Parts: sequence; structure tokens; C-alpha cells
Amino acid sequence: MHPSATLTTPHYKRPSERLLTKEERNSTTLLFGGLTYTHDYLIEGALRGLGYNARCLPVPDNNSLAIGREYGNRGQCNPTYYTVGNLIKYLQHLKENGEENIGERYAFITAGSCGPCRFGMYEAEYRKALRDAGFPGFRILLLQQSGSLNQGSESGIELTPRFFITLLKALMAGDMINELGYKIRPYETESGETDRCIKEGRDILYTALKEKTPLRKGLRRVNGLFSSIHVDYSRIKPKVKITGEFWAMTTEGEGNYQLQRWLESEGAEVIVEPVSNWITYIFWEHIERARERMRVKKGSVKVIIGLKIANLIFNSYYNVYRAALNFRPEPLPSQQKIADYARDYYNPYISGGEGHMEIGKHIMYFLRKKAHLVVSVKPFGCMPSTQSDGVQAKVVTDLRDSLFASIETSGDSDVNVKSRVQMKLYEAKERAKKEVMGILDKHGLTMKQVEECSRKNPLSGMVKLPHCYTSAAGNFIHMMGKSSANRRDAEALSMKINQITEKIKRIANRL
Ligand code: SF4
Repeated sequence: MHPSATLTTPHYKRPSERLLTKEERNSTTLLFGGLTYTHDYLIEGALRGLGYNARCLPVPDNNSLAIGREYGNRGQCNPTYYTVGNLIKYLQHLKENGEENIGERYAFITAGSCGPCRFGMYEAEYRKALRDAGFPGFRILLLQQSGSLNQGSESGIELTPRFFITLLKALMAGDMINELGYKIRPYETESGETDRCIKEGRDILYTALKEKTPLRKGLRRVNGLFSSIHVDYSRIKPKVKITGEFWAMTTEGEGNYQLQRWLESEGAEVIVEPVSNWITYIFWEHIERARERMRVKKGSVKVIIGLKIANLIFNSYYNVYRAALNFRPEPLPSQQKIADYARDYYNPYISGGEGHMEIGKHIMYFLRKKAHLVVSVKPFGCMPSTQSDGVQAKVVTDLRDSLFASIETSGDSDVNVKSRVQMKLYEAKERAKKEVMGILDKHGLTMKQVEECSRKNPLSGMVKLPHCYTSAAGNFIHMMGKSSANRRDAEALSMKINQITEKIKRIANRL
């Protein structure tokens, strides 16, 4: 007999988790975080409107990373350390301020998944680190990508359609406020105006979500606010698209060296990624999986139809909110197109992280002239981003003219990362200048004329420029050139009409 056969090691059983019960709902504050401050703040308003006590955590910083490393397992990816450490940091802060019964009065709600990357391990990682940091049994409520909660039907969180729709509305509103900010701020004529409007706009939308008044109306008020900002599009700025791993490209804190604001300070216009794109990706991914199983699984057609309708409703909401903002925010790109762009380089059925999207977006932004430079942010230890980066080398070779920089965020080496981006940014600036010079030549204008025109007739930040060129300055000059060409045409036409009228008059006089 093998010696191990006599061992009586008990079978491993996963420890039972503490629930958030219906009775505890009113006495428990739900903590959450991990997106941009605007998103988190609006989600707080939405949860309060739904009747929960909710509080968003501050944006994670390098102190959160240090705490995450101290209590977390070895070999985790960067976002795990930042987000886990951020929660512990906040709980420690509560404790230091004399809060008692923290485990009873607070719970943390976060998104989760079954993998395949470390995202599937977040829940276990939170529990391990919380236990070691002195918060054993702290409640972690995991909202699965499938739309279920790890708490069962007795949970104090009611996963009703209203719950999801309200949260999605908050996400969309957050996307739009962020997008407007990044589009307008680099061109504002009065420094600080955009940030002031963002703050006011956020409060308007927070109140709308909390008091359950139509978000559309709130967005219309935001439109009024942003319309009062004057912009100067004669400033030549390269457009930089930030892509990469979901958390690393979304956060606006030390987790990505505050890349967005830093790029702006270096003279760029930044294009950020709406969180809503991730939602449409989930719809797309599940539709594709159901399509694959059509021949072997009953009910797949129903699933596909249901998901397509959900996707359509989601996009319709997004467009209604865009309409309230004068269509200034861009529409969400088609997930099918992104997959088609990526298909030759990265199998769209490989999931984990951003999957094929990093590749698809790089190609799309280059081919559609939407950005001069694409910066992909890869967190230290991220498996899916490492795969994408390997493929990007081939994409860059094939596209030839594309400017692409991939950076790894590790919490330190800030200087190295920024100097790499600066090198590419210099090239992007040169391209933007070259583009503008060509447009000036085409329309017979000089930069001096453009600057004077912009100074004399400052545009509102909510005016949408035509998209013919990559840079905002290029599109502004194109618009100016077109309108002066139209004016010249109109003048020529009216001269012609006058000449014909004169001729008719002379003939009439002779008769
Ligand atoms: S995508 Fe990368 S960084 Fe994000 S959770 Fe997965 S392994 Fe970590």
C-alpha cells in the first residue's frame, strides 16, 4: 500500500463567505472604486439613488501600491496591488480615525470574473490581504461579469434591471464628462475653465442620479456649462490615444503616472477610452461565444437575440445622452470593426484583459486618422498586455507610418517611461505641424490669419469640428478655408447675377 493512502488529510473546502443581508443593508456602507474619480463619484450618486449607503474610495496612489505589495501574494499584476492596497489603506484610515466595528459597518463591492487572467483571482487576493492586514472576514461582494453576485438570492443587494441600468447610466455620463474635458481643456482660452465646468457638471449629474431625475436634463445643463468655454483651435497639438490594459489606461492617478494630465502638460490632446466600450465588448464577446455554440447548444439563438437587443438599447441610451451634449462626445465604435481590424494579428476569441482590442484600436486610430500617436499602457506583470505587445511589433511594421509606444507601469521608473513617450511625442508634434502646413497651403491661408480669426471669433468648446484631418487645428483650418471658399463662391455668384440682371435691364430698355 502506498504510504499516502493511509493519510487522512481533510478535503479542502472553500471557507463560507459572510453575506450582506437585507437587514444589514441600512447599517452598511458599500465601498467601491477603481475607475476615474468622475465615474466613481457618479456611481456613488447612482447607488445612493437606489437606496444604498455608498462611498467611493479615493483614486489609488503609490502608497496603495506599497500596502498592496505588503499584504498581497507575490507575483500579482500591478492593478491588483493598487486596488487591494487602496481598500486596505482606506480601512486603516477609518481605524485611525476611531471608527469601530468596521467589518460590520462596511462592505466592499467590486467587479469580478472567472479569469482567464489574474482578474479571476481578485476576490481571493482581497480576502487574503484583508485578513493579513487585520480585517479578517471583511465582506467582499463580487459583481460577476455574467451579472450575478457571489452572495446568492438572500443578498442585501438587489440585482434588478433597474440596478444595472442606473449603474450603466452613471458610467455613460462619466465617460462623456471625461471625454469633453480632454477634448476641450487643451484649447481653453481661460485656464482652469474646463476643470471648473467638470466639477459643476459632475455635481449636477450626481444630484440627478441621487434624486432619480432624468439624466438627459442634467446633461443638457452640462451642455450649457461647457458651451460657455471659449477655445482656440489655432494651437497645433498632436492627438494621443491612450489604450492598453483596462485599469492602467483608465485610472487617472499614480497607477499610470498620471499619464493623461502629463501628456496634456507636454502639449498633446489626449483621447481616453470610454468605459462603455468595455460594456459593448462584453456584449460582443458573449454573442460570438453563443454563435459558436449554436449547433451544439439549445437556446443559443435566444441568447444572441437577447444580447443584440441589450446592445442596441445600450447604444441607443449612449446616443440619446450624446444628443443632449450636442453630439460632441464620439459615438462608440463598432466592436465588430475592432475585431475585424485585429483579426489578422490576434485571434478575437482569445479573452483575458483587453483581448484583441489593443490591436484593433491601434489599427483603427491610425487608419481613420484619429490619432498621431497611440500609447499602450501595460501594467507590470500583466499577461494579456504582454501578448498584445508582442503582436504590436508586427502591426507597427505593417502599418509603417504608425507612431506607437508601449509602456510598462510598475509604480516606479516614472522618468524612464516619460522619456520614452516624450521621444514619440516629439515625432507626433512634427507630424501635426506638417499636416497643418499642408492644409494652410491648400487653402491659401497663413498661420497668422488663422490665429487672428480664432482670436476674433472664439469658438465654443461644444462646437463640433468636421473630421477630415487628425489634429483639431487642421480641421479648424479646413473649416475656415471651406467657409472662405464658400464666401468667395457666393460673392462670385452674386456678381454674376448682378451682371445678368443689368444685361436684362439694358435689353428691356432697348425694347
Ligand atoms: S488584464 Fe492584466 S493587469 Fe488586468 S487583471 Fe488581467 S493580468 Fe492583471
